[in-house]
Amino acid sequence: MTTASSSLMWFRKGLRIHDNPALEYAAKNSSNVYPVFVIDPHYMKPDPGAFSPGSRLAGVNRIRFLLESLVDLDSSLKKLGSRLLVFHGEPGDELIRCLKEWNIKRLCFEYDTDPYYQALDARVKNYASENGIEIFSPVSHTLFNPAHIIEKNGGNPPMNCQLILKLVGEPQWLSSPLSTTLDTIPPIGDVGNCHIIEVPTLKQLGYENIQEEEPPIFRGGETEALRRLRESTSDKEWVAKFEKPKGDPSAFLKPATTMLSPYLKFGCLSSRYFYQCCKEIEKEFKNHTDPPVSLRAQLLWREFFYAVGFGTPNFDHMRGNAICRQIPWNDDDELLAAWRDAQTGFPWIDAIMVQLRKWGWIHHLARHSVACFLTRGDLFVHWEKGRDVFERLLVDSDWAINNGNWLWLSCSSFFYQFHRIYSPITFGKKYDPSGAYIRHFLPVLKDMPKEYIYEPWTAPLSIQTKANCIIGKDYPKPIISHDVASKECKRKIGAAYELNKKTNGMVSDEDMQNLRRKLVEDQSEGTDSKRLKQKLI
Ligand code: FAD
Repeated sequence: MTTASSSLMWFRKGLRIHDNPALEYAAKNSSNVYPVFVIDPHYMKPDPGAFSPGSRLAGVNRIRFLLESLVDLDSSLKKLGSRLLVFHGEPGDELIRCLKEWNIKRLCFEYDTDPYYQALDARVKNYASENGIEIFSPVSHTLFNPAHIIEKNGGNPPMNCQLILKLVGEPQWLSSPLSTTLDTIPPIGDVGNCHIIEVPTLKQLGYENIQEEEPPIFRGGETEALRRLRESTSDKEWVAKFEKPKGDPSAFLKPATTMLSPYLKFGCLSSRYFYQCCKEIEKEFKNHTDPPVSLRAQLLWREFFYAVGFGTPNFDHMRGNAICRQIPWNDDDELLAAWRDAQTGFPWIDAIMVQLRKWGWIHHLARHSVACFLTRGDLFVHWEKGRDVFERLLVDSDWAINNGNWLWLSCSSFFYQFHRIYSPITFGKKYDPSGAYIRHFLPVLKDMPKEYIYEPWTAPLSIQTKANCIIGKDYPKPIISHDVASKECKRKIGAAYELNKKTNGMVSDEDMQNLRRKLVEDQSEGTDSKRLKQKLI
């Protein structure tokens, strides 16, 4: 082991000190450590043409969260005698320049399976190995190495979450405590002529006119992540009895789940540490819940989607994706925009979409409701379009989990019971009969009597007038008839499933065209797609 050398610790996700094996390795084996984060303008630059404030790729809630996480990391590094060196530019170029300028002997970073990082890392690794730089890139974003899960499954990703523990057993690191802190970090060496900046503010990035209607729901960073983890796990019985999919998607004053997803997404919280905490609590309760419904199991779902995403070419597309059923979705931008902009006329759906835009987070079953509505339930819009909207607006937006769940919800993969549809009217009512959630996120409906809050178009005009909400003027009429549209969706998916079966999943462009033609021909009177859409006002 050499100690008189410089290491570069490249932060991307993994924005934490606790359980960070790459940072630990750099700190233990180097005389100087350069902790670096590169701000990619591609990801951060405002896009005035986007449908919501933010960059081309990310809504402003997520950008804010990332900046806060960087400030928090910088402050933790300072307490350990170091600081975060922030750069602005194309990450590969910036990093290679630093490696050269500082004569780095060791490059440490957390392994990442996202396609974006796979491509970026291949380039940087290539440079490093050509120049004799040691690379240390451990797996610590997930509980297991997704490649290991695939290997144990005979080279194929598992198609069932329950299989994960059967294949690989409990993780090896579980038996001993994970590191929660570091004593110190070796000093930063000479930074030469590199242009280092402070973590920028939103304003410095060009977000001048962000109107905050209410304070952001999340504060980014490891400090807040650990505080929230302590808070979520302080009620041990709640953890031990956690059972998904039970839990109220309409609970907004005290949401029904941990809301730790943004912290896991950016690695402000280690999923391994979270898993270990759950496991410790389970030991204290004989009758705790188990996978796939327990809280610990939610992290196994995450693992599952990481493994499938990593092992499936074109996982984020329908075409060329071997595990995705080929379905003739429509490309109706008007329906898509109505869904995205909370203008469907179905209060349960619209309230969820408002929460998504404002908070950047919605409950799992709320995600189910709106994803089902957009795709196989009602509008029959392509799941990739809904995925893109989520990808932009969610603070926790995660490539593997988001794509995996959209595949699931649209009955394109994993789950095939397309006859089971979430009603945009009765599903929410089960949890929240008085419509408190709708009234909160859609104040235009706040005075609508509870009898009509889920179907305001059925309220007599006198009631609408009294509630100061005329349907078709103050709030849209429903864009479709749910009964008609859902039947139509089932008919189309049924026919697509037949075709997938007949062709053994090898559906050609021509097959798809023929299917589209046949579906139009078979369309019975009164279900014409133009008629399905009532006028949006
Ligand atoms: P908890 O119930 O407290 O669970 C703890 C953690 O387990 C979560 O933070 C998350 O990391 C993981 N987890 C929980 N449920 C799932 C699941 N079904 N699949 C994989 N991991 C899970 N989650 C994301 O983190 N990013 C996404 O981009 C994302 N997109 C989704 C899109 C759709 C259409 C659907 C239906 C679900 C999506 N989810 C996504 C999964 C899930 O809804 C969220 O992880 C969860 O609601 C986050 O809230 P929480 O942290 O309170 O979860």
